[in-house]
Amino acid sequence: MKGKLSKKEVEQLRKRLFRKPQLVWDVVGPGEKNKVLAFAERYKSFLDAAKTEREAVRLIEAFSKKKGFKDITRARGGKRFYKINRNKNIALAVIGKRPLISGVNLVASHIDAPRLDLKQNPIYEEVDLAFLKTHYYGGIKKYQWLARPLAIHGKVLKKDGSHLDLQVGESDDDPVFTIADLLPHLARKVQTEKKVSEAFEGEKLNVLVGSLPLGDDKIKERFKLALLEYLFTTYGIVEEDLVSSEIEIVPAGRARDVGWDRSLIGAYGQDDRVCAYASLEAVGELKTPETTAVALFIDKEEIGSDGSTGAKSRFLEDFVADLFEVTGKEATGKALRSCLISSRALSADVNGALDPDYQDVHEKRNAARIGYGVCITKFTGSGGKYGSSDANAEYLGQIRKLFNENKVVWQTGELGKVDEGGGGTIAKFLAIYGMEVLDCGTPLLSMHSPFEIASKADIYMTYKGYQAFFNSKQDS
Ligand code: MN
Ligand code: MN
Repeated sequence: MKGKLSKKEVEQLRKRLFRKPQLVWDVVGPGEKNKVLAFAERYKSFLDAAKTEREAVRLIEAFSKKKGFKDITRARGGKRFYKINRNKNIALAVIGKRPLISGVNLVASHIDAPRLDLKQNPIYEEVDLAFLKTHYYGGIKKYQWLARPLAIHGKVLKKDGSHLDLQVGESDDDPVFTIADLLPHLARKVQTEKKVSEAFEGEKLNVLVGSLPLGDDKIKERFKLALLEYLFTTYGIVEEDLVSSEIEIVPAGRARDVGWDRSLIGAYGQDDRVCAYASLEAVGELKTPETTAVALFIDKEEIGSDGSTGAKSRFLEDFVADLFEVTGKEATGKALRSCLISSRALSADVNGALDPDYQDVHEKRNAARIGYGVCITKFTGSGGKYGSSDANAEYLGQIRKLFNENKVVWQTGELGKVDEGGGGTIAKFLAIYGMEVLDCGTPLLSMHSPFEIASKADIYMTYKGYQAFFNSKQDS
């Protein structure tokens, strides 16, 4: 033991031993700050144009074509490929110097977001108003969807087999739609005195779409008829066509800067299009990485990753098999397994940031903070890490070293207090292949709301983290 330490020695010791979280704004110089702000502008444009998984796929495809990626199903040779799965799921790859069999660096994000889907028989009228019935998708607080402008996005397969892409409510001269809420004067018994979970019912999330009748009051269901007549004359749609449709109701409007200092972005769907966009730019700018880079954009995360376009499908495996073949190697079962088990993945998903008004649900020392950089999460899950893939310390060691060496401002974040609740990501579905997986993404306030908040600084550090990851050597 040393004797009494001087003030200076204590300070030095503290500096050497403590981990000091860094606020991104304290760290970036003027040059990098400009990059932070420029990245945010490009990201906002992506958010405005990609409000559904299908729209995100179209945008990612257009972006990748511009960056020289070729459709792998038609490519003969080359180094940059993409593959689309049922228009809701896309993967991009840049072939690296090392043999594919020794693994890839994978960043996997999801491009679906909580929303209201139309039911298959949605149209009805009630008290001389026309409505659409919905079934919500993913974890929403239902009251957040009431009394706000909504837009309709989706796809309709008509009876002749032709299809139609719908988008209404986004441009200034479009109409919008809405779900009316009950006036407070009459809400006491049916809402105010009830538990929130009981006060707002899924079957009451009905979208108001019109109030003009067709013909006179002798005509039955003339408000529904007026709506169908409009849909037919405008789009050639009849009621049965909606059976073969996927129509999503999303908040209307564009991504906005939040705050006088414009340091934050508020928008719908940042979970998880923030990580999707960050990984898209990072993979797009790669030349010839050491290790093959794969950016995977998946669907259905918000409803448990089931389905042919979700993380539980075998699309990744199929894409990697294609990568073997297009580079002149045989995609044997053994080769595929060797590649996947030797791979490293970032499960690129957002995390809930410490909410200033509800700090009690977080454990402050381990919660992600707005402005403190990209968040790495060793484990998710709930009730004793249940359902978590729990990353290996060895792998965390690699990523931490990598981020430090590349001046990526990072933090760690657990979703909430141990007994508070929890959630999961696609990490565990990637871990099935035996690859290393770590959750790594942007912290958000108001997560899963129609207006999620992210810091421009954290968004940029997310991109910078993925960029460093794609450029890293496997054993660094
Ligand atoms: Mn997510
Ligand atoms: Mn989510």
